Amino acid sequence: IALEIVAETGSTNVDLLARAAHLQQPTLLWAQLQTAGKGRAGRAWHTPAGAALTFSLAWKFNLPVQGLLGLPLAVGVVIAEALRTFGVDARLKWPNDVLKDDGKLAGILIETVTDKTGRQATWAVIGIGINIAQASGLSMQTGRAVVAATELAAEPERAMAALLDGFAQALPRFEQQGFAGFVDAWNALDAYAGEPVNILDQGQVLHTGYAAGVDAGGRLLLDTAQGRITVLAGDVSLRIR
Ligand code: ATP
Repeated sequence: IALEIVAETGSTNVDLLARAAHLQQPTLLWAQLQTAGKGRAGRAWHTPAGAALTFSLAWKFNLPVQGLLGLPLAVGVVIAEALRTFGVDARLKWPNDVLKDDGKLAGILIETVTDKTGRQATWAVIGIGINIAQASGLSMQTGRAVVAATELAAEPERAMAALLDGFAQALPRFEQQGFAGFVDAWNALDAYAGEPVNILDQGQVLHTGYAAGVDAGGRLLLDTAQGRITVLAGDVSLRIR
């Protein structure tokens, strides 16, 4: 994996997306400061200076884009397991968040480019933001609990090395096994297993039930009054009731 470190950029995902089709090898771009980070569905990811690890990893999978549906969840497992080796009680929230104490610790945004050699290969640009220092005002600004893995702040390089190692092992496994190779690990770290939740689509309640983990395709299992259903990630959000 080629490692590039820059002092500042708008969005590491935007930068790598522009270059993905020409990359010769997996590339990790780490920005000390990211000024226009993105979340899902056009939402913003805020990273005040010095308060977060912000980076993107471009990785070519010999898979069509549909083969990457469970990738955000597998990436969550990699991040949570790496953070746990630093003593951070990281857990997972479907589909793409890493939590601690029910606050949002890290976000994941994956964007893809079909490889120019054909539809069977896809470049995934895996964007990650991990809060490492408590930034005052962020919870106010986002309207939700924001937490930080302060254990990483003293030695961010060592945290990045652990994450890199995790990705180097996990992504080839994802290519071979898909999310099925990660489903047990995901369910073991599920923050909301058994909890009453709503599934929202643009603020509207789409489904109500009890969270029951995820299946081997990365779909949420939801026990509703009508029985168990599966929910595709798409742009929907899970909220505790
Ligand atoms: P959910 O699945 O809970 O709806 P989400 O998918 O909305 O989460 P993303 O779109 O991945 O989350 O990320 C953007 C959102 O994350 C923002 O709308 C904001 O609420 C929140 N956010 C922005 N910056 C941070 C940060 N540094 N730490 C924690 N949360 C943040």
